[in-house]
Amino acid sequence: MSLTKPLVTEALRAVPGAAAGTDLVSGQHLLWVSACDSYASIKLQYPAPDKAAFDAIAARAHTAVLNAARPLGTRVDSFIVEFVNEAGAVVHTSRFGGTTGKPQPEAPSPPQAGHTPIPGLRPQAPGLPGVGRVIAVGAGKGGVGKSTVAVNLAVGLARLGQSVGLLDADIYGPSIPTMLGLDDQEVIVHDGLLQPFLAHGVRCMTMGKLVPADKPLIWRGPMAHGAFKQLTEQTRWGELDTLVIDLPPGTGDVALTMAQMLRLTGAIVVCTPQRVAQDDASRAIQMFRQLGVELLGVVENMSTFVGDDGKEYDIFGRGGAQHMAQRLGVPFLGAIPITMSLRQNSDSGDPTRNFTGTGRAERVLAEALAELVRQVEAQVALASLKHAQTTPKLTFS
Ligand code: ADP
Repeated sequence: MSLTKPLVTEALRAVPGAAAGTDLVSGQHLLWVSACDSYASIKLQYPAPDKAAFDAIAARAHTAVLNAARPLGTRVDSFIVEFVNEAGAVVHTSRFGGTTGKPQPEAPSPPQAGHTPIPGLRPQAPGLPGVGRVIAVGAGKGGVGKSTVAVNLAVGLARLGQSVGLLDADIYGPSIPTMLGLDDQEVIVHDGLLQPFLAHGVRCMTMGKLVPADKPLIWRGPMAHGAFKQLTEQTRWGELDTLVIDLPPGTGDVALTMAQMLRLTGAIVVCTPQRVAQDDASRAIQMFRQLGVELLGVVENMSTFVGDDGKEYDIFGRGGAQHMAQRLGVPFLGAIPITMSLRQNSDSGDPTRNFTGTGRAERVLAEALAELVRQVEAQVALASLKHAQTTPKLTFS
């Protein structure tokens, strides 16, 4: 059984509130709860004099949730408590992993400053207070696995302990609700802002949950601009180490809006090995170059097919995207094989399984995804050193 909002909420009734005779729920300290699988996140408004006092109340909340979850055999792999002030700004965050019961250390941050940047990285994306790095994932055309890469990158970074957001900016065909299994989660608006969905350790916002699934999403340029802006700015992301943006395929309005609005850490281009896919991907690479966005690299998806017996078959011609990356002078971030389990886990909204499978093909996949995450981290560090504080400039030719 996975964690649920009612389970977490009920558990928090065991934690005393600030006023005598109250608890976190009856004392109206609890503003928001999100729970999925073994991850939960809550938002509290609670008067406390210092960080130690915040951590102490968060630890009591964590213990209460562990106590409620244990008899049901439910795991609590991640528990995040955000304390907000009356204006809704996050003033402190306590994070708990697994069963240790101790908050994970947080780098020092001034009160209400929002996010503490990872050392050496860009401090903040303009327009998104509290968000550290912004990584866009694009592709020359649809169906090459762009959303798959965006989801697994986000989940992979979250599994490393980062606080990660995923913005599904593929407003024409949002697939993140399916891939993260958001069907049962409801849209919550609090104080005029959308609360991100929490799934697999990732905070996510998507147009797919704001419009009916069967409604065609037809956006003219200015509407696409507005939709992107709204999803980005009107979501209460909180403090994020990394925001991953899943762009629509091709070279359109959303990428332009994004480059104007945000200081990006860099972009990733996903490509399959075939020649026709490479041609489209190189157009996407040119687009990012024209927008002045750093290219973190190319990912070759569907590189080979790995059968359940562990044998590899180069259906689409392994290495094609890698050669294209070399030709265009863009880093190569790695290859992801075609595997049954990746497709199945995407369809069932369970990307965590991509990192934990034990079959032969699954282990190849898990290693490929771990390597991708490592390569992206390495390129992000390089990009930050190279281009500290550079704002993208729009140039047209
Ligand atoms: P895009 O975002 O480029 O349109 P998606 O990420 O939605 O593409 O992927 C399209 C389909 O292909 C999805 O059903 C996805 O599960 C599947 N898919 C993507 N990459 C792989 C892979 N490496 N192995 C198996 N299936 C994959």
